[in-house]
Amino acid sequence: MQVIFLDNNVRKFLKYTALFLFYIIAFILILAYINSNFTLAAYNTFLSILMICFFILILFTLVSVISIIGLSRKRKTSRFQMPFIKYGLRILMPVTLFFATLMGNDKDSVRSFYIEMNNLISESSDETFRPEDILVLLPHCLQNSDCGHKITNDINNCKQCGKCVISDLLDIVRERNVRAVVVTGGTAARNIVLKEKPKAVLSVACERDLASGIMDVNKLPKEEKMPVIGVLNTRPNGPCFNTNVDVDTLAEKLDHLLGRNKVNGG
Ligand code: SF4
Repeated sequence: MQVIFLDNNVRKFLKYTALFLFYIIAFILILAYINSNFTLAAYNTFLSILMICFFILILFTLVSVISIIGLSRKRKTSRFQMPFIKYGLRILMPVTLFFATLMGNDKDSVRSFYIEMNNLISESSDETFRPEDILVLLPHCLQNSDCGHKITNDINNCKQCGKCVISDLLDIVRERNVRAVVVTGGTAARNIVLKEKPKAVLSVACERDLASGIMDVNKLPKEEKMPVIGVLNTRPNGPCFNTNVDVDTLAEKLDHLLGRNKVNGG
């Protein structure tokens, strides 16, 4: 008998499709039960509870949206608004991404906004970290494609020829005594964060990888969570090929985490 081993991605697809069907069937069964067993009074009570729940959801969404817009304009927020921003983003981001996909709109601008808001939330605490508690994650596409040095094994293998931005980044992390790792993709980045358990992460990536990485960290148990600051790479040669990053922005974000007040400083 031939045994069929399902690919991991296929298994995940089937799992989420099954979950989707399960929720739809459960919803229909609940409606059918209510239809056949509820008295008119019980039915009305059920409808009232449902309306109150929707009203609370709408109210929460409105307060969240106002708080998020306030944060994006003033670059700071109050302690009262913080939970509305955090949980609002967590709920609204997948919803906005879903509608952007449905309408065929640009999802990267939604992701970029999410990354910017996440940075503002993380930086607003003004918490500082020791160099050994920070991990800098860099995508391998920053490396010049003609370079033969294996920097994914160890970034220190870079000979600093100056043909790509890795050379400048190496200077920045060496000077601050911070560990930097060059990763081959989102999964490798997640694995190294789970293995190393840094107290703060500064990550360079594209909108998609950064947004999904931040969402993943937000799903971790409270004691395992850490702030993730994102810096977007630029793609002058198209996606995943000889990309670049603003080194001043990266140095500034790193200095903020370290509690240093000089840009590119010493
Ligand atoms: S700077 Fe480093 S990584 Fe970039 S091309 Fe030169 S040796 Fe390779």
